Amino acid sequence: MHHFHYRDDQLMCEEVSIDRIAEEVGTPFYLYSHATLTHHFQVFDQAFAGIPHLVCFAMKANSNLAALKLFADLGGGADVVSGGELYRALKAGIPSRRIVFAGVGKTREEMDYALKSDILMFNVESPQELRVLNDVAGSMGVTARVALRINPDVDPKTHPYISTGLKKSKFGIDISVAMEEYQVARELRHIQVVGVHQHIGSQITEVTPFVDGLVKVVELIGKLRDQGFTIDYLDVGGGLGITYKDEDPPVPRVFAEALIAVVKDVGCTIVLEPGRVIAGNAGVLVTRVLYTKQTPAKHFIIVDAGMNDLIRPSLYGSFHSILPARRKDGRETVLADVVGPVCESGDFLAKDRSMPPAEPGELLVVMSAGAYGYTMASNYNSRPRPPEILVKGDRYFTVRERESYEDLIRGERIPQYL
Ligand SMILES: *Cc1c(COP(=O)(O)O)cnc(C)c1O
Repeated sequence: MHHFHYRDDQLMCEEVSIDRIAEEVGTPFYLYSHATLTHHFQVFDQAFAGIPHLVCFAMKANSNLAALKLFADLGGGADVVSGGELYRALKAGIPSRRIVFAGVGKTREEMDYALKSDILMFNVESPQELRVLNDVAGSMGVTARVALRINPDVDPKTHPYISTGLKKSKFGIDISVAMEEYQVARELRHIQVVGVHQHIGSQITEVTPFVDGLVKVVELIGKLRDQGFTIDYLDVGGGLGITYKDEDPPVPRVFAEALIAVVKDVGCTIVLEPGRVIAGNAGVLVTRVLYTKQTPAKHFIIVDAGMNDLIRPSLYGSFHSILPARRKDGRETVLADVVGPVCESGDFLAKDRSMPPAEPGELLVVMSAGAYGYTMASNYNSRPRPPEILVKGDRYFTVRERESYEDLIRGERIPQYL
């Protein structure tokens, strides 16, 4: 469910025509729907209403301050994976005790910052990290609340780049040695064990891998309690998939029912870390056609957004539906590659796509770009990153400005010896 629909052949975001925004802010730009973000968050949150839980939005999917503020006001927390994300979460007003911190490469500085901020817990991913965290906490005279991130060795059946819970993955601590690591944690004076964490991957479209991982983790919690550990939090991670094309992922209610069946008697607060399922279909990337070009082999639609703006098609071969902002009847479709201006053959938004024949100046809307869109954007080819716009009802607001050429060279210096 989302709030991007045609009205009189004009693609609208809620009550605002995308065409109008493009006239006023220029292209390309990211566009988010307040109603969709809110609806997705609430549906997900309410699906778990029957059990004690906390929804920590996975910020790497979309870290715009306005979106984070919106989730904070709905009772949400944040799953952060860097000091920078922690900074953003706090700036957006997310209470520190609703923040969890994952990632295989946390630095001492990041640990120091998170301890000072008094976050809910660290999701620790290796024995060495556990010792360094103990050391940092000790030097500050505090204790660090931790969950160990357990790798349950399940196949999430998704793209290899976003599978994180397989035995060969860099993430987490193998479940076979988890008990030993918990024993180590208990001996460390500045570590307080409070939970168990898992996160098995992203864009997962079945419940089975979640349930399989969770069954193993719940079993582990039983063993930990037998050994006298207090486990208050079970963090089940994120990863629920969305429909980009014809995927048919379980809706949050079905997902929640399957998970709750496994965890209902475990007596923990369940932490959830959804990213894509909240933000993915709540945002689009709007781009303008610059040229069309027919080569002996192909038809190209050249647009003003490229892989630096949205890298998912190039990086994962992802499918994003592309719609005209203004629908016209009676156009026969053509098979086209929709490509950007970046000097790379991998710079495409769609390949061999059946499209209405686009004309220069026409607006195209790349759907499902609200997650892992702007957050993965770069300045490659010295292209300023696009603005982000948030629509609410019949209003819109630029929640992040378009970068300027000056922004591109900010912080750069030419040394005297040149
Ligand atoms: C990326 C990530 C998530 C979010 O994954 P989605 O597929 O966007 O829901 C949650 N938790 C952790 C630890 C992550 O790295």
